[in-house]
Amino acid sequence: MDEQTDNNAVLRAKKRFMVVIVGHACSLKCKDCGNLDPYAPADTMVYSMPDIISNLDVVLSHLEIAQVQVQGGEPFLHKDLPDLIKYVTETRKKRLLIATNGTIMPKFDFSLLKNERITVRISDYPVVKNIGLQLMKELEKAGVQSRVYEFNTKKGRWYNKGGVDVPREDNDEIVSSRFENCDNKHCLTLDNGKLAHCSRGVISERIQGYSSLQTDYLTVEDTMDFRRSLYKYVKEKKFITACRYCLGTNESDTIEPALQLESFEGKTNKMEAQARWPGKLKNLLSRK
Ligand code: SF4
Repeated sequence: MDEQTDNNAVLRAKKRFMVVIVGHACSLKCKDCGNLDPYAPADTMVYSMPDIISNLDVVLSHLEIAQVQVQGGEPFLHKDLPDLIKYVTETRKKRLLIATNGTIMPKFDFSLLKNERITVRISDYPVVKNIGLQLMKELEKAGVQSRVYEFNTKKGRWYNKGGVDVPREDNDEIVSSRFENCDNKHCLTLDNGKLAHCSRGVISERIQGYSSLQTDYLTVEDTMDFRRSLYKYVKEKKFITACRYCLGTNESDTIEPALQLESFEGKTNKMEAQARWPGKLKNLLSRK
């Protein structure tokens, strides 16, 4: 978009941060994954990096934000992640948060992450595959900022957003209140050229088998219409069809985090996890 067009523009939407999904492939199989990743279709596992960057480039021309939050699945599984890191922090000069589940040691040179704009956020999930502490030490050695993420709620638990089989809620009042009270409604998410209020909202129709309305998400395109729609979408937040099939975030309905599907090798193992995250995780795990 050239300068002249930009000056004529309608108002630019503003957000503190936005989420960018690089694909739904994950090294864990959490049975209660809020984004339903273990059930995501095969064609959503790894998105093309040139496509991700070109969609993000368009969105950033129309949206004012301070921080991009990269998520999967597990983002360190994406072999071209360095391209996105460079684009966000060097080309766009935005802050970047990489949200990892702490099970993957990235193969690329950590000097790429040594930048005051970058933070790696490591979830200390109680799973056998968790190498979060080791990852954190390696990052620290390389001078990279990182921090531990103690799950979603303040009590080290996950919100129970419900699984694939959440029955449709037809009562608009209930769904509206679910949305209004949902912490995730602020997580504007870019997923394969679509933007929605939350990350579950973009992918769940394909997993839960319902049809979205045209107004549920925006398709990214470099037009003034898109800019207008984005401004409206961000300003006048309303529940989306995904909220009919999701229980939202409710402090009184929380569950144990990262329980693995039975068949999966990375199954939950509190004893082993406690040994890997001495002290700190032990305290977290002892909470009810
Ligand atoms: S209630 Fe709606 S906004 Fe909240 S996580 Fe579920 S689908 Fe997303």
